[in-house]
Amino acid sequence: MKKKMMFIYNAHEEKARIRSKLVEIIEVFVQAGYEITVMPMQKQGDAIAFVREKEEYFELVVCSGSDVTLTEAITGMLQCKHKVPIGYIPCGSTNDLARGLKIPSNMVKAAHTAAVGDVFAYDVGRFNGEIFLYAAAFALFTDVSCEVRREMKSVHDRMLFLLEKMKRQTKIKSYHLKVRFDDVEIEDDFVFGTITNSRTLGGFRRITGQDVALDDGLFEVILVKLPKSLFEIRKTQVSLRTRIVDPTYIYCFKTSKVTFEATEEIPWTWDGESDAFYQKVEIENLNKALEIKIPPKK
Ligand SMILES: [Mg+2]
Repeated sequence: MKKKMMFIYNAHEEKARIRSKLVEIIEVFVQAGYEITVMPMQKQGDAIAFVREKEEYFELVVCSGSDVTLTEAITGMLQCKHKVPIGYIPCGSTNDLARGLKIPSNMVKAAHTAAVGDVFAYDVGRFNGEIFLYAAAFALFTDVSCEVRREMKSVHDRMLFLLEKMKRQTKIKSYHLKVRFDDVEIEDDFVFGTITNSRTLGGFRRITGQDVALDDGLFEVILVKLPKSLFEIRKTQVSLRTRIVDPTYIYCFKTSKVTFEATEEIPWTWDGESDAFYQKVEIENLNKALEIKIPPKK
């Protein structure tokens, strides 16, 4: 009996390179001994439905597209009774998760990883009920133009942009927030914050800590307080740039669940893909909820 795979691809995305690689990718799957059911996405949300409604005989779901497509496949899988591993062939512009898991950027090699790789149980995040893959952040895009937003999709780019801005002006928009995690409650004014499960995010490696694990059930949280003087702006910048955290200016902690309550609706983004305003946000780490294929150990 051949192993059965569902292969979902999105050829409608901006940078979809799948069209020219489709034949090679399918041959990789066949050579690995799979019988394939191909499901081309026609519209947003298709991957959720394909996975959620899949029959039980599928042993593997592979999806090709951007982080958004992968997020859909995961969302569908979390709603399934019969869960199976997901293989991922990235072809978007921001693929923090693929980088973090060493999934090849070459699509044919990624197909090989999806077919014969090992299974890794990765933590995914839940943001007010929606799934995100590696980063949520607030206040990182408010007053930039749409064009700048498109160019600076990643949380990292936006963080740097904001820091540059802080250098030029002292008046920065801040948000008054109550933050609760474990048994702690913080109330303060913040200029921005990030909640991540990523080793590579923004090269801010030492701030999130060198002991970042993608399967420990914990997020790294950074909350940057509102600097109250030029001196404090400089200290905050130094703290972020040298990556030596000064608790006077920055909160830094690990947690599995954190809630944010603001006095107004504040702008949030996740995985650098979606932007929306919320007054209350609950973020939860779903420990090892995603079984994803990674390159096999030799
Ligand atoms: Mg973690």
